[in-house]
Amino acid sequence: MRIVVLTGGIGGARFLVGVRAYARTVDAEVTAVVNVGDDVRLHGLQICPDLDSVMYTLGGAADPERGWGRVGESWVVKEELARYGAEPSWFGLGDKDTATHLVRTRMLTAGYPLSEVTAALCDRWQPGMTLIPATDHRLETHVVSDVDGERRAIHFQEWWIRHRGAVPTHRFVFVGADAAKPAPGVIEAIEGADVVLIAPSNPVVSIAPILAVPGIREAVAGGPAPVVGVSPIIGGAPVRGMADRCLATLGVEVSAAGVGGLYGPRGTDGLLDGWLVDNADGETEVPGVTVRAAPLWMTDEEATAKMVAEAMNLARQRSS
Ligand code: GDP
Ligand code: CA
Repeated sequence: MRIVVLTGGIGGARFLVGVRAYARTVDAEVTAVVNVGDDVRLHGLQICPDLDSVMYTLGGAADPERGWGRVGESWVVKEELARYGAEPSWFGLGDKDTATHLVRTRMLTAGYPLSEVTAALCDRWQPGMTLIPATDHRLETHVVSDVDGERRAIHFQEWWIRHRGAVPTHRFVFVGADAAKPAPGVIEAIEGADVVLIAPSNPVVSIAPILAVPGIREAVAGGPAPVVGVSPIIGGAPVRGMADRCLATLGVEVSAAGVGGLYGPRGTDGLLDGWLVDNADGETEVPGVTVRAAPLWMTDEEATAKMVAEAMNLARQRSS
């Protein structure tokens, strides 16, 4: 059994912990295709927030309270940079995290593609599955917004961390997506999968940038495996994060039905065979998609593994 998961950072990472637990019970192999749209170069370091969230979480080293970065982190480098007045000062650059970015940047500079760098970093963290960036090419999410009275495209990190997403926002642009190619192994994994799961990640800035890499959306939508998505919206609100702001920018309703409709049914222009929503959203309908309800709160590994089992049931139903 081969399971492929499309995923972003924190929400996706928590989901993957459940996927891994489920996979152990059925001896399945898991490949996570991870968003790179949040990636940014700061202070000369190549930072991959979603890959790191997934890697640290699966490696048991993520900070559970912050949700991102390393547990037991210290901030000496960040404080020292601030004393030099080195901008940007708004980005959370932990000391332990910095070592990851140094190793990554050094390998990238030496000519290794991001997918190989990720595999090398995973040698240490042993995530229990294969992590592949969606692409080895530069793909960055920029946000067209009004900042200081001027309409500009700013990096997603600046929009989210510096401005808390609280500036008039017009659209999201995946810079570099047109020319990007799927990283080695991505299309092979999707085409060889028994199931493709879409994690309850932010649909607009975590999943959409993956699908924007030419070939990936086509492989998922046209592949042999059933595709089941899990809703990141429960009872009309994102559990955490800014999916509501992102969806509002697209004019999509902040609901399980809204996100299910955004992904859409397979066979037309969409992706989904099944859509798993929370029990609170049991009335949800998405035309052309089989909708099932289950508890979707990822409170711990056991609850999340159950939720994954429900998604797998839904997938089996669609493939039989
Ligand atoms: P990011 O890249 O770090 O922003 O993380 P993701 O995009 O992978 O995940 C963020 C999304 O996870 C948010 O939009 C939340 O709606 C969703 N999320 C977080 N916790 C839960 C949970 O317990 N259950 C569900 N269904 N969604 C969650
Ligand atoms: Ca992210």
